Amino acid sequence: MKLPSELTQQLAANGIRLTKQREEVFGMLLQKRNHPTAAELFLRAKKHMPSISLATIYNCLDALVDCDLVKQVHADRAATRYCANLKDHSHFHCESCGAITDVETPFDGAWNLLPEYAVYHAEVSLRGLCPKCSAENKPVTTNQSATDVLPKSEIATQLSKLKTQNS
Ligand SMILES: [Zn+2]
Ligand SMILES: [Zn+2]
Repeated sequence: MKLPSELTQQLAANGIRLTKQREEVFGMLLQKRNHPTAAELFLRAKKHMPSISLATIYNCLDALVDCDLVKQVHADRAATRYCANLKDHSHFHCESCGAITDVETPFDGAWNLLPEYAVYHAEVSLRGLCPKCSAENKPVTTNQSATDVLPKSEIATQLSKLKTQNS
């Protein structure tokens, strides 16, 4: 995938030269802005670069993050997602399907901070249901994996064991 030439020129002007693989990864992030994880990017890249490895994807992402072309998006304990939107923006996290959407936040400087603080960047994390999930009226599920939470029956067994130990 080729990046728009003005972008390549802009990068070159800033002393950033992208390798073919970095260009590929950056291009994928620009093309489909659904905040993919490294693993998702790897699966997508593999389609046209069959020899690419997950380690290379991580390496490319690190380089892109280092030169401020890509931002990392963290959501709780979920895998890091990547975002190529360079405008100041925040993220809306859907608590049901996990989709992440960009939210442009016009910052009016009205934070409750002492004037001695200088704010250079603001990022607000919004959570709730995306239009699709709120239309389906899905209940909010937590992203906890099965290993984090013991089933109720298991908890009961553990409790009864504790009780017998104490008596
Ligand atoms: Zn959703
Ligand atoms: Zn974003």
